[in-house]
Amino acid sequence: MGTIGILGGGQLARMLVLAGAPLGVEFKIVDTAEDACAGQVAPLIHADWRDFAALEKFAREIDVATFDFENVPAETAQWLTQRTQVFPNPRALATAQDRLAEKTLFRECGLGTPAFAPVDTREDLDAALRAVGAPAILKTRRLGYDGKGQFRLKSANDADPAWQALGSDSHGLILEAFVPFECEVSVIAVRGRDGDFRTWPLTRNWHSEGILAVSLAPAHVDDAIARTAFAHARTIAEKLDYVGVFALELFVHKGELLGNEMAPRVHNSGHWTIEGAVTSQFENHVRAVLGLPLGDTSALGRACMLNWIGELPDANAILRESDAHWHDYGKSPRAGRKVGHATVRARDDETLANTLQRIGEALGRQAQVQPAVNALR
Ligand code: AMP
Repeated sequence: MGTIGILGGGQLARMLVLAGAPLGVEFKIVDTAEDACAGQVAPLIHADWRDFAALEKFAREIDVATFDFENVPAETAQWLTQRTQVFPNPRALATAQDRLAEKTLFRECGLGTPAFAPVDTREDLDAALRAVGAPAILKTRRLGYDGKGQFRLKSANDADPAWQALGSDSHGLILEAFVPFECEVSVIAVRGRDGDFRTWPLTRNWHSEGILAVSLAPAHVDDAIARTAFAHARTIAEKLDYVGVFALELFVHKGELLGNEMAPRVHNSGHWTIEGAVTSQFENHVRAVLGLPLGDTSALGRACMLNWIGELPDANAILRESDAHWHDYGKSPRAGRKVGHATVRARDDETLANTLQRIGEALGRQAQVQPAVNALR
C-alpha cells in the first residue's frame, strides 16, 4: 500500500500508525524528541526540523509525507515538496499556522469570526482594544496550542499585564473579542486527492483551562447549524485544495457559527471516531493521503471521549464497562500533557449518560463528565 512519512511523533502519529497497519501501510516518523511516543509503534528518526541531511534520507524512504504537528516550519514542508508528495499542501499548513491568516480566510469563505485585530506594538494593543472592545483575548499568532500563548483581558486596564506576558513574541499577536458562546463544536472533515469530501457527525466539545476535556458526538445541535458548519468546512477545504483530515473549531453564539481555528491534521475532538464511527479519522487520513477511496464516516450510535490530562486515571473504571475503550499513549505524566483518553459508546443517550456518570463516580471525576451528562439528559 505504500509508506507514509509523518512529521511529528506524538499520539496523533501513533494513532495514524495503528489505523494504517491493518491496511498494510508502513510508516516512518520524524520528531525532534528522542522519546516521541509514536516511536513505540513505528521506526522513528530523531532529527531537527532543519536537519536536511536526515530529512533527505527520510524523503527517499517514503511515498508521501504528512503531519501530526502543524508547527513544522513551512519552509521544511515546502522543501519536502521538491522530494516527495506532501499532504496537506504547505500553503494549507502555513495558513493554519497563523491565527490572523486563518481568520482572514474564514471571512473570505463567508464564515464569521469573533471581532479581531492584529497587534504588533503596545500602541496597536490600545487601538485593537478600542476596535474590538473588552473582554478580549490576546493570543500569539503562531505556535499557540492548548490555551498556551493566550492572555484574557477583562478590561482595557489589563493591557499592560497582557503586553508584559506576550508582547515579546516575535511572530506578532492577535486580539480577539471574548465570545460568551452557547457551546463549542468542531467539524472533523476529510478530503481525498480526487476531491471527495466527507464529514463525521458534528462534535460538541468542552474545554478546561484551554485544553479539550470532553467531546460528545453526534452533538445535540440544530440540523441547520450542522449543515452550515459542514458547508463552511467544504468551502475552506476546496479553497485550500486540502487533502487529508482537518478540524474546524467553531463557537455557537446566538444561534450563529463563528470560526475559532482550524487544525490541519487529525484532531483530538475526532478521537471518538476510532470506536464511534464506521471509519475513523485516522484511517481516512491514511486513505486520503495515499489516494485511496475514503471510508464511511457515519456514527455507530453515540460516543463520548474523555481526555486524560497530566496523568492516567485507574484504567479498570473504563475496562470493566462493556462498551468503553481505553487509550494510553505511552507518554510519561506531566502537568497539562495529554497522556491518553477513553471513548464510551452507547446505543442511546440515556445509556451513555448512565455509563459516564458511573465512570465519573468511580474515578472521582464527576466534574469532567457532568457537562456531557447534562447535554444527554
Ligand atoms: P484556542 O487555542 O484558540 O482554540 O483556544 C482554546 C479555548 O479557549 C477555546 O476552545 C475556547 O474555549 C477558549 N477561547 C478561545 N478564543 C476565545 C474567544 N474569542 N472567546 C471565548 N473563548 C475563547
